Amino acid sequence: MGQLELTAGRYRSLRLGAIAGNLTDLLAQAEANEVSYLAFADMLVEHERQTREAKRIDLYRRQAGFPSDKRLEGFDYRHQTTITKRQINALLDFAFLDNRENLVFIGPPGVGKTHLSIGIGQKAIEAGYRVLFRNALDLVEELELAEMKGELKKTLHKLAKVDALVIDELGYLPMSRQARYALFQLINRFYEHRSLIITTNKDFTSWGEFFHDDNVAVPIVDRIIHHSHLYLLGGESYRLKQKTLS
Ligand code: ADP
Ligand code: MG
Repeated sequence: MGQLELTAGRYRSLRLGAIAGNLTDLLAQAEANEVSYLAFADMLVEHERQTREAKRIDLYRRQAGFPSDKRLEGFDYRHQTTITKRQINALLDFAFLDNRENLVFIGPPGVGKTHLSIGIGQKAIEAGYRVLFRNALDLVEELELAEMKGELKKTLHKLAKVDALVIDELGYLPMSRQARYALFQLINRFYEHRSLIITTNKDFTSWGEFFHDDNVAVPIVDRIIHHSHLYLLGGESYRLKQKTLS
């Protein structure tokens, strides 16, 4: 075995797989650029770090289950003028996650609520946070199923492992009594413990109606709004705008 294989094997045995796998290239680069010993030492460790970070982001993204790959960079604030770039950028220090606060995007269809929630989720992942995206109906179905199996507690525990749970399209369709109860359990579990990012077409004044004015409506709304940042989005649908352009 040559020296190169031997050295690569040593890196591998210390779980420095990215260095091991790219040693030939890294050496060639260092030689071509005539870098200093210190710069080379740094190149190696930086390569390992960056490879690991990219893998982590990739894994967290897959685990998040975003329905599409929306980014904040692709959000057009000239179209959506009811929220400013400054307001969104202010969230990107992720103090709201550290403080277990919620974000609520309220508005009619097509105004960018889902886009913003995914975009913020992507940035949170890049910053090292865990995010989970769920459509409200899918989430409620998942909770109801868990409840039926007597596993609601376990499921809630699993969901609450993330830093932020995106609940998309809450309040679009009426829910059964069991569904409302399951949702209430989730909100309780997250309250002051984890963050929720909610998109909804309902302003909170009509939430009582959505929850059939039963006794879980008030505590649910109360717990969501308490410690939360509300954004009322308006304007015309971006989808409609695209339609008229084409
Ligand atoms: P909502 O969730 O409010 O119904 P979406 O976020 O799904 O709306 O937006 C509908 C479509 O229009 C998506 O493809 C989204 O990427 C796009 N879109 C909406 N608003 C904007 C915007 N301001 N800039 C860029 N794309 C936008
Ligand atoms: Mg949406």
